[in-house]
Amino acid sequence: MNQVSCECGFSARDDDEDRVADMTMQHVRASHPDLADQVTPDVVRGWVELVP
Ligand SMILES: [Zn+2]
Repeated sequence: MNQVSCECGFSARDDDEDRVADMTMQHVRASHPDLADQVTPDVVRGWVELVP
């Protein structure tokens, strides 16, 4: 599983890295609009952790 954990407590996980990136982008736009400009899909991919 790919997982991204946000500092606010949100986490997204899926077996598909692109879907995790999409979920995370949506979360950032909804919950952290001040960060949305800086958070690109490439940045999000850097946050992905692999979990069992
Ligand atoms: Zn968050």
